[in-house]
This record gives sequence, C-alpha cells and structure tokens, in this order.
Amino acid sequence: MSSHIAYLVLGTNLGNRYKNLSNARFEINKLPKTKILKKSKIFKSPFYGPIKQPFFFNLALEVETRLTPINLLESLQKIETKLKREKNSHMKPRTIDIDIVFFDDETINTPLLKVPHYDWQNRNFFIEPLREVDCKAKKFKNFNLD
Ligand code: ADP
Ligand code: MG
Repeated sequence: MSSHIAYLVLGTNLGNRYKNLSNARFEINKLPKTKILKKSKIFKSPFYGPIKQPFFFNLALEVETRLTPINLLESLQKIETKLKREKNSHMKPRTIDIDIVFFDDETINTPLLKVPHYDWQNRNFFIEPLREVDCKAKKFKNFNLD
C-alpha cells in the first residue's frame, strides 16, 4: 500500500491543554502504519464559532500514513474518545479535537469525511500552524500566494 502525507490540526480547550496535546501525539504515533514527521509549536487561539468558551491551544502535525483517509479518521476518533472527549461536543469545549485538514491533494466529499476541511481557509488556528510545518498541499501553497 502506498504512503500518504496528511495534515492534522489538534485543538484543546478543556483540562490540561499541554497534556492533552502530548497524549494525542503519543497516541497518533502509536497508530499502525502511521508516524508523525513534523509538529508545529503550540498556538493559542480565542474560541471560534457561536458559543463563548475558553481559549484553545492548537498545533499542526505532518503525518505519514498508509491508512486510507476513512481509516485514519476512525483511528483519530478512537483517540478522541480515549482522551475522554464528550460526545456531541461540536463547537463546544473539548479535551481534544483532531481534524484532518489535507490528505495528499485528495478531495473527499462523503458524509463522514470532507477533505480539505470545509472551513480551513477561514481558520487562522489551522493556517498558522500549517505554515509552520510547511504544509505541502497544493491548495495550501496556492492560498498562501494570494
Ligand atoms: P468540529 O471539528 O467542527 O468541531 P467535530 O470534531 O465534532 O466538529 O466533527 C464532527 C464530524 O465531522 C465528525 O463526526 C466527522 O465525521 C466529520 N468530519 C468531516 N470531515 C472531517 C475532517 N476533515 N476531519 C475530521 N472530521 C471530519
Ligand atoms: Mg473535529
């Protein structure tokens, strides 16, 4: 099976944010056929969306994986559950949120998974950490030229 480069952005705004990020990185590195190639520094960002909530820490990872996009998503969701993310916490405080922003240069449009992430261009807390890991996705490169 061929290997892919995925860009993940992690977010946390509940509990010990440093520990949540390092636990998540540890778990991601343990996934089969997957290893972290690069990590950004931690960025602090204000809450985003309609619900007022505590600030976030975010970081980006460049990951090499031989998992399929959907297997990667499922694996990341298991990590979210393991790190005790509450269900139905869309846009609410969470110990850890792991989003797949890019997967090679693929476009994926399924109910469970949309790649590139539907809102990446509007989220500085995606863009800044991705810049730091020198994200190679074509859409990202072109966006930064504008
Ligand atoms: P948000 O990240 O917007 O706060 P959630 O993390 O709760 O929301 O995600 C809700 C759903 O988004 C998940 O059940 C997942 O199936 C779906 N999803 C679609 N595209 C992606 C993606 N690129 N990365 C992660 N989850 C995604
Ligand atoms: Mg998410």
